[in-house]
Amino acid sequence: MAILRIRLYGDPILRAPTKPVDEVTDETRKLIQDMMETMRKADGVGLAAPQVGVSKSIIVARNPENASLPTGQAGEIALINPEILESEGEIVAEEGCLSFPKITSEVRRTRRIIVEGLNPQGEKIRVEEVDLMARIIQHEIDHLKGILFIDRMSPARKILISKELKRLIKLRGRT
Ligand code: ZN
Repeated sequence: MAILRIRLYGDPILRAPTKPVDEVTDETRKLIQDMMETMRKADGVGLAAPQVGVSKSIIVARNPENASLPTGQAGEIALINPEILESEGEIVAEEGCLSFPKITSEVRRTRRIIVEGLNPQGEKIRVEEVDLMARIIQHEIDHLKGILFIDRMSPARKILISKELKRLIKLRGRT
């Protein structure tokens, strides 16, 4: 497994809509393993392929409440070509993003979702999630469309963090 470089805000790949995966191959599974490893190492709870420089429709997520479990166990999920089939309720909570180090904000999301996608074996699966895990998956699916969590912040909040965003763009220029 390998730790991949996480792309920061300002990298154009974060704004590009991804392509669906036509066929789940060993290469797809390797990428998923690397994404999982990268997410754990960065102490994140979710990661989308564009964040590691791959413009494909793949996300990984883990439930932080289960984060103490040995890796690869319950609480971690990988979805290929995920799509939200149903959503219900609304909830506002604090959110962060590995492509925006040190920035957090309250974001409004749907409370409960049903998502369909392929698992790493290429089988169609349907999962229901609520609260935090539902939030993480919505955040990651947004990434696949080139949508970032700053797009979902209130205008006032966005003005408040505009300095921080400029800092990130400069930081990216140096790496
Ligand atoms: Zn993110």
